[in-house]
Amino acid sequence: MNLQNEILSKHADGAAGRLLNKVAVITGAASGIGKEIALSFAREGAKVVIADLDQHAARKAASEIDPRGECALGVGMDVSNEEQVESGMAQAIETFGRLDILVSNAGIQIVAPLVDFDFDKWKKMLSIHLDGAFLTTRAALRQMYRQNSGSIIYMGSVHSKEASPLKAPYVTAKHGLIGLAKVVAKEGAAHGVRANVICPGFVRTPLVDKQIPEQARELGISEADVIKAVMLKETVDGEFTTVQDVAEAALFLAAFPSNALTGQSMVVSHGWFMQ
Ligand code: NAD
Repeated sequence: MNLQNEILSKHADGAAGRLLNKVAVITGAASGIGKEIALSFAREGAKVVIADLDQHAARKAASEIDPRGECALGVGMDVSNEEQVESGMAQAIETFGRLDILVSNAGIQIVAPLVDFDFDKWKKMLSIHLDGAFLTTRAALRQMYRQNSGSIIYMGSVHSKEASPLKAPYVTAKHGLIGLAKVVAKEGAAHGVRANVICPGFVRTPLVDKQIPEQARELGISEADVIKAVMLKETVDGEFTTVQDVAEAALFLAAFPSNALTGQSMVVSHGWFMQ
């Protein structure tokens, strides 16, 4: 059975699925980790909204899941733009009637030594990662409070836990997401809303593939050495984390068996950073 038929028949049959009848908004879901999360949520019966800066790619990713648009919607949204977040989230809720899960995942990477870091690039990084998380969370909470339930998942990083040279705004923003999740966990508890952070190690996505030559240049080492001596150095087995590894963690945090988990961060990294 092809992917679309598999997903549509699951929705039609009301077959068992960990996210049956749930609605999820996933930001930055036209590519990489977010795209895999959207796919795996849809496979588990959720209706998914793929929100991305790249509207064309968002719509394409949604139509790969369901060309009829009954269980997948692609929405253009710059998460750092208040108006676009408000209208994108409203469209998502209007289309599918509720909102159970937000995965705040959209992100970019800009690497440079702190001493030379351009202020506009610093602000852009913090705005996409932190303003984006705040704006989407605020819009999601309004609906989740009405429903008295919800799960919010922030895409952190191992860099939410420890530093790295050349990545000052990324490390700062990813640490900040842990603080935000803890506040949402405290404020949301009375309204049935949980919030957690996933902290992946390096995953081969366009975001990381772009970094490899940049870091090689900055550090004056080969690309192979960036992979071996920087990206995989701290793992227990020299393996990259995969998009599927991260999606499985997101499924766990989104679904009901993880009801007791809130305000936590889950490191998914082949042993890099043991808490
Ligand atoms: P990716 O580049 O494959 O996907 C990122 C997506 O975010 C793209 O589709 C892009 O269009 C979208 N995006 C960028 N700016 C946006 C904006 N302003 N508004 C809405 N969408 C926007 O990258 P990825 O590796 O899948 O990264 C996803 C998340 O995972 C990021 O937050 C990243 O920091 C985090 N992360 C990635 C890794 C890794 O190794 N790849 C590790 C840890 C954490």
